[in-house]
Amino acid sequence: MPDTNEAAASESSEAIALEAILNAQHPEKEAVALWARQNLSDPALLERDEGCEFWREGWNRCAEQGIQGSVISADFGGRELDLITAMLRFEGLGVGCEDAGLVFGLSAQIWTMQATLEKFGTGEQKGRWLPALASGAAIGAFAITEHEAGSDAFSIKTEATKVDGGYVLNGTKAFVTLAPVCDVIVVFTTTNPEVGRWGITGFLVDINTPGISVGPNRPKMGLRTTPFADVTFENCEVPQSARIGGEGSGAAIFSSAMESERAFLLAGSVGQLERHIAQTIQYANDRVQFGQPIGTFQSVSHEIADMKFAHETARLMLYKAAALQQRGEPSMMAAALAKLSASEAALAGAMSSIRVHGARGYVSEHGVERGLRDTVGGVIYGGSSGIQKNIIARLLGLPS
Ligand SMILES: Cc1cc2nc3c(=O)[nH]c(=O)nc-3n(C[C@H](O)[C@H](O)[C@H](O)COP(=O)(O)OP(=O)(O)OC[C@H]3O[C@@H](n4cnc5c(N)ncnc54)[C@H](O)[C@@H]3O)c2cc1C
Repeated sequence: MPDTNEAAASESSEAIALEAILNAQHPEKEAVALWARQNLSDPALLERDEGCEFWREGWNRCAEQGIQGSVISADFGGRELDLITAMLRFEGLGVGCEDAGLVFGLSAQIWTMQATLEKFGTGEQKGRWLPALASGAAIGAFAITEHEAGSDAFSIKTEATKVDGGYVLNGTKAFVTLAPVCDVIVVFTTTNPEVGRWGITGFLVDINTPGISVGPNRPKMGLRTTPFADVTFENCEVPQSARIGGEGSGAAIFSSAMESERAFLLAGSVGQLERHIAQTIQYANDRVQFGQPIGTFQSVSHEIADMKFAHETARLMLYKAAALQQRGEPSMMAAALAKLSASEAALAGAMSSIRVHGARGYVSEHGVERGLRDTVGGVIYGGSSGIQKNIIARLLGLPS
């Protein structure tokens, strides 16, 4: 039987989840959306998107508002929020903040790098980095992908060779979000290439450690305001205390990070879709063709109804995954469904928005086309849609 505290915590997380489901204007979400509209509306966004420029000032404002510290424990300067409340806040951020790259960068740090550090880091590692990450003084990145190891993440070749008192790291990580602006990086290596996934080992490394070089920001299709780059380790010596978990425990640590990432990374995109729906409805009501608002044409109104259907489905799946993780229950299926549903809904919804806006959706100045570019990455990062379907099929008992 669960003890009284556990039962009360579970009851309260159920109550929070139910309230989140029933109240689409949840005060927690609305408050962050309003704050974001007032504090993160950057007139230079169009130029920054074009120039692939990160907005450190916006990042710092989010830290002051407690965004980065949402789920960090109070001992390390965080707000220690339950996962559903944190989810609602990220949805609100997506609704109110038009800089989708900023929202993505924050989400990537919080749900992969920070989640790994908080769950598996030593007291010393957490004490050094979590308060700085929460306050915005430091930025954290998370690196597993290599040029030859994408979906097949456990085939990584970056090697950590044991030496007296520590390890020497050699190899190159690819597409590492925030790498050009980060201070610290969680990096997965192999300490024993012979045994595949059983040799994967994680490290937490200060980016200024000799032997690390960060490549230039790689311009990309969307999310251009959050930089990403390759990170090369060349005879990079790290102490044993830089290891996260035991030797060979990296695959389990990475899988745990992925469950958190899949469940939560797209909460901001769900918020963005809510904003796109509102903008699209407004446009459909205002734009007149053939003497009537285009929203009176069924092909237009159904396009928007489809956006709403996909949005509501994704929202409910996110809360379910968050509620299961909050209760400490298995959430692999729920997290894969949430990631798949939220990323595909955001992408299809952004495309629908362009259809309804016609040429005004296609030109850059209104930002509608940016909405589409910003959503494409969602079906690739954190495990592509194909990989999420593999997970779902495997959990359904189909051969993998
Ligand atoms: C915006 C963005 C940010 C990123 N940030 C980071 C980061 O911070 N850190 C990091 O480590 N990585 C990051 N990545 C990399 C990301 O994790 C990989 O792109 C992703 O894992 C897919 O790997 P890949 O691009 O090599 O594609 P591949 O693995 O080559 O896949 C290509 C295609 O083949 C399909 N495919 C491959 N294997 C299978 C299979 N077994 N079954 C079915 N289909 C399959 C995929 O679904 C996909 O459609 C980021 C990527 C993007 C786009």
